Amino acid sequence: MTATSQTWPDARGRFGPYGGRYVPETLMAPLEELERAYEAARADAEFMALLDAELKNFAGRPTPLQFASRLTEHLGGARIYLKREDLLHTGAHKINNCLGQGLLAVRMGKKRIIAETGAGQHGVATATVAARLGLECVVYMGTEDMERQRLNVSRMRMLGAEVVGVNAGSRTLKDAINEAMRDWVTNVRTTHYLLGSVLGAHPYPRMVRDFHACIGREARAQILAAEKRLPDTLVACVGGGSNAIGLFYDFLGDASVKMVGVEAGGRGTGLGEHAARLAFQAGFSGARPGVLQGTYSCVLQTPDGQIAATHSVSAGLDYPAVGPEHAWLAEQGRAEYTAASDEAAIDAARTLARIEGIIPALESAHALAEIILRAPKMRREEIIIMNLSGRGDKDMEILSKYL
Ligand SMILES: *Cc1c(COP(=O)(O)O)cnc(C)c1O
Repeated sequence: MTATSQTWPDARGRFGPYGGRYVPETLMAPLEELERAYEAARADAEFMALLDAELKNFAGRPTPLQFASRLTEHLGGARIYLKREDLLHTGAHKINNCLGQGLLAVRMGKKRIIAETGAGQHGVATATVAARLGLECVVYMGTEDMERQRLNVSRMRMLGAEVVGVNAGSRTLKDAINEAMRDWVTNVRTTHYLLGSVLGAHPYPRMVRDFHACIGREARAQILAAEKRLPDTLVACVGGGSNAIGLFYDFLGDASVKMVGVEAGGRGTGLGEHAARLAFQAGFSGARPGVLQGTYSCVLQTPDGQIAATHSVSAGLDYPAVGPEHAWLAEQGRAEYTAASDEAAIDAARTLARIEGIIPALESAHALAEIILRAPKMRREEIIIMNLSGRGDKDMEILSKYL
């Protein structure tokens, strides 16, 4: 076990210099209440058994670790395994965290859940869990995003959630975040704020990581059963970073296991053309340490410190900040971060569809683009595990333009 694993964050919610709690005074008490409740819940065997049962019977865990035999043969290098999070209920890993926080809200006696969503995937997973647990659900969404993601708005409403359009600023995700924060401050006694990635103030980055750590725990047991040894390399896409840290976490203590996070390279390396916060070694510009949404991490910003515009073909990767634990893993060199372009991701999605019969989410296709570069350079006895974080049904409108 290295110092990296298990011991982070520290008591103040810090991953090295990153993380922490940068929020208005009014949010300190609710965050402390949440931290205490989470600590008690994770030590409670009954709560953990309830969560495991929901993950199994409602969400569909454990997910398979599939040997991608045809892709392996096609690329002619390392043996490639896919962790099939795309097979979960609602089509992606997000349900792991939503179930964890939903059950925690019930345990805390909160009857109402709020969330913010950009593309709508987190909103749908949250609305799904709220329905399953009998909680009221309000999802904030920029009106521009609502227009672009009409199907997900309908899904949330079908599930009984109230979708509140936010008509301020750029009418997208960051405006929805502000509105959700305002709601939480006002209604904190009855309401849990269900955050969707390893972002936000402490304890969110740690708690969300823990709820996704089942991915790596399962993958570890599955690869040991299949190959009798640990993998050489793990690859996952990084938006906020929850599916990646979920896969990486159980392997952090294994020095022989390389970890690669893949960000959105968009359509170029200039500021505004990508969403690569940690891949600056690959030439992507604009990321510096800074505070966004309550946490200190790597943030894409203009020279005078304004949050920069970002671009990615994949909505789930299109965010100016990254989870603080990833900033720390990058700084220590424990994980490596690269980026895949829009074009490479779309090509990769087509490859997986035709060779393995799986249409991946565009987010996951970024990880696959890295595998396509990397696997042929590896030896045939080496092993790669890729987190296939979600399915591509939601992206068919975009993908069909390239057929
Ligand atoms: C939301 C999403 C992501 C990005 O979020 P992370 O927190 O970085 O995991 C990746 N893949 C899929 C399929 C998603 O829906």
